[in-house]
Amino acid sequence: MGVVIAVANQKGGVAKTTTVHTLAAALVERGKRVLIVDLDPQACLTYENGVNPDDLDATVHDVMLGRVGIADVVIDVNGIDLVPSSIDLAGSEVHLLTKTGREFVLGRALRAVVDDYDFVFIDCAPSLGILTLNGLTAAGHVLIPFQAETLSHRAVGQLLETIGDVRAYTNEGLEVMGAVATMFDGRTNLGKQVLVEVAETHDIEVLAPPIPRSVKVAEAPGRGRSVLDHARRSKSAEAYRALALEVERRA
Ligand code: ADP
Ligand code: MG
Repeated sequence: MGVVIAVANQKGGVAKTTTVHTLAAALVERGKRVLIVDLDPQACLTYENGVNPDDLDATVHDVMLGRVGIADVVIDVNGIDLVPSSIDLAGSEVHLLTKTGREFVLGRALRAVVDDYDFVFIDCAPSLGILTLNGLTAAGHVLIPFQAETLSHRAVGQLLETIGDVRAYTNEGLEVMGAVATMFDGRTNLGKQVLVEVAETHDIEVLAPPIPRSVKVAEAPGRGRSVLDHARRSKSAEAYRALALEVERRA
């Protein structure tokens, strides 16, 4: 059965979407079958895979409303299966709030397809709202990207509290696979200091290796590809490949 991994941090701009896209590409390179779910109304994962939500008849929004199944909305993007999002998804938050069992909608929908994949990654929105609760409830593991260039990581503590609540109420088996250090600059002491601080403050494992900051990573989405294709041999590409091995080992 496929391993379902939610990639979450309610702070924006910490490389959640980049990490989902690039880890998926790295696992596809290794012959794995991978599904990525865009669970953010901003639809960045969808756009950066070269898909315009305006061109689509149905997205994850329709899945969350129970109108269609996941298999009906999947799009193949360079060997990765994508469940696209659109701004409509913001409306499903409101709709879900009045429903019993609202945290379980995505998990139930995934059940129909999870056996078709080795890995399923859920790209969570930058909030701790009902969509992210769906992502955490559907997952077996959670990865927490954080920016390794600032000392403020209060968001990680809040997220860990929410994960505690999810374990108590909707998904007892949820495991924290670890934190992923992104935008790392190994030349400064700050970068290294942040890795140690995050691990110690939150009693969490920071997975190796950290992902270096690189303009190659930032350029890739504009090409509709991940850095693995945009700059195959760059340090960031190699770091994401190594991280994919670590994820596989821990799954
Ligand atoms: P999130 O999904 O957490 O909001 P994104 O994945 O969209 O974060 O990343 C935020 C921005 O940072 C994007 O413009 C992305 O291209 C850029 N970025 C991500 N990782 C790196 C990196 N290792 N080096 C440089 N820029 C990066
Ligand atoms: Mg994002």
